[in-house]
Amino acid sequence: MNSKADSSNLVYMLSREAGKCLYCGFCEAVCPTLPLGLHRGYGPRGRVALVLEALRGYKLSNEVISSLYSCLGCGACRVKCPVSIDVGGLVRGFKVLYSIGFVKGAPKSDQVVVRIRRRKYGIYKAIS
Ligand code: SF4
Ligand code: SF4
Repeated sequence: MNSKADSSNLVYMLSREAGKCLYCGFCEAVCPTLPLGLHRGYGPRGRVALVLEALRGYKLSNEVISSLYSCLGCGACRVKCPVSIDVGGLVRGFKVLYSIGFVKGAPKSDQVVVRIRRRKYGIYKAIS
């Protein structure tokens, strides 16, 4: 098995899926974890943005990684999504890349402050 080629295929698939996002936010109303979280990374739109950040090589803080791991994979967001993005599948793919070390968490020393910035379309970006 060529793990480098396999991870490249997965990165391509995830990038393509996440790249469909219109950042419309229709999905947020139905996500059961968003009201429980500290920021939009606990909802589908934020998770799509965070997976893209991870694929682009940003090191994510443990707090952000926790927000991705809190996705239930329930699929409620997909029902509301005009382009049927499978956020649960995206997050599962992220977990695989994280588990094999393709996506890196930030070193603890870099996590003193988790910067949460509002971006265009109201997405929050949290990178240590
Ligand atoms: S699959 Fe994840 S992001 Fe989508 S509604 Fe369920 S918990 Fe929220
Ligand atoms: S409904 Fe779909 S396209 Fe709109 S923000 Fe959510 S995931 Fe992106």
